[in-house]
Amino acid sequence: MPLFDFKCRKCKHEFEILVSGSEKPECPACGADDLEKLMSSYQSRPRTGKGSADKCGGCAKSSCAGCH
Ligand SMILES: [Zn+2]
Repeated sequence: MPLFDFKCRKCKHEFEILVSGSEKPECPACGADDLEKLMSSYQSRPRTGKGSADKCGGCAKSSCAGCH
């Protein structure tokens, strides 16, 4: 199942959520559906060679589950 990162435009809360079909996700913090879809952190992680593991190149966040 696809796991997506979203950021709520209303309260700026960032979260990951499973989205199935045409189901519309809601912010778990405030319930708003005005969400910004972020790049999936682990699926877009580039293949890196040795010695380049200090910085996350696959996402814009300072920390993510896919990079640690
Ligand atoms: Zn929210």
